Amino acid sequence: MGKTVSTWLKNGRLYDVTAGRFQDGDIEIQGERIASVGGRAPKDAGAIDLEGAWLLPGFIDCHVHLCVKTETADVSGLWNNSLPGEVAIYAARAARRTLMAGITTARDVGGWDYHEIAVREAIDAGWIEGPRLFCSGRILTITSSSTPYYRGMYEECDGPVAVQHGARLQLAKGANFIKLLATGAVTSTKYERSDAIQFRLEEIEAAVAIATDNFTYVAAHAHADSGIRNCVQAGCRSIEHGSFGTRETFELMKAKGTWLVPTLCTTPAMFRDEKFAAKVQPHIRARYQEVNATRVANMKLAREIGVNVAMGTDSGTPGNHAGDNMQEVEVMVQAAGFSPAEAMRAATLGAATMMGQEGQLGSLETGKLADIIALRANPLEDISALRSVDFVMKGGRVYKQDGQPTVFV
Ligand SMILES: [Zn+2]
Repeated sequence: MGKTVSTWLKNGRLYDVTAGRFQDGDIEIQGERIASVGGRAPKDAGAIDLEGAWLLPGFIDCHVHLCVKTETADVSGLWNNSLPGEVAIYAARAARRTLMAGITTARDVGGWDYHEIAVREAIDAGWIEGPRLFCSGRILTITSSSTPYYRGMYEECDGPVAVQHGARLQLAKGANFIKLLATGAVTSTKYERSDAIQFRLEEIEAAVAIATDNFTYVAAHAHADSGIRNCVQAGCRSIEHGSFGTRETFELMKAKGTWLVPTLCTTPAMFRDEKFAAKVQPHIRARYQEVNATRVANMKLAREIGVNVAMGTDSGTPGNHAGDNMQEVEVMVQAAGFSPAEAMRAATLGAATMMGQEGQLGSLETGKLADIIALRANPLEDISALRSVDFVMKGGRVYKQDGQPTVFV
């Protein structure tokens, strides 16, 4: 898999995530880390010339499902009759596509029979190419009509004791954190409502206790307002979706420092291809249409209130393909009122901070891991410049250059 790059990236413009602006300068890489930022490469130094490129920290997608087949419109039978190994191979492909899009770190918030954990380990071992992965294993859920849709993804556990067991089981399987369903989902059976409570407060508290015991945290799927409040009160680190959140709830999130992961691109991703969308189960298609305006309005409200936001795509929902991850940053800017700098911060330093990785990831700073991407155009002027990632470095190793994947032997 190639040797470690120990060199300079020169003649680019470097993005300061905190200041929200670019400045001229070079970056020195030693091993897997950034050794200096903003100086000039010595004439005789080994260097990659990125003349005129716009350099940013590698982006972070806080909400992906690498194991879910996004080309399947009808989710009622995902991976039924699949071959042994098929899911893991699919997830490995999804991981590579994600990295090539400029996502150097991703949080998998619901895998499939732990294939994604195997993918994480294979990436870390250098067998395959993909982002740094933080995985939840299976999603903890109440007894649910939707479990047959997601046999490899859901872990049913009712009551605090069963939730404790479910959380411990995920950690024992190699999970980095715990994911649970505090409310119903949108991509679910017709018997399930996204505005209904699922886990109750004491069950969520049980999961948070086990996560805290193990130096980690809980990410909570929550659409219904009262479900979001339960999660905030219980001490969950992040609210995924947050669709029906009210002003009072967002103010509570702000006061408690709870993070919001909006996943705004799910509806546009499903409807980009009308023929594809027509094959989605009618009740799910209708829900995606119905929830969209509310979700956009509420994410605007959360932004205005000043809730901490981390970028997440929900890549894995129908039509929401791995490798299209930057579409979420675009939607945040184009539909939900985020400035390009705000959206890019949510996808870099914000995301890193939410995951407790701000000392390692999320900005171009000396001592951090050398996760760096380069664009051909300035994303502050046109956010869709993020769709043309020309160069990808992760941990000091180049995975893409001149827009082309690097071939390792
Ligand atoms: Zn999801």
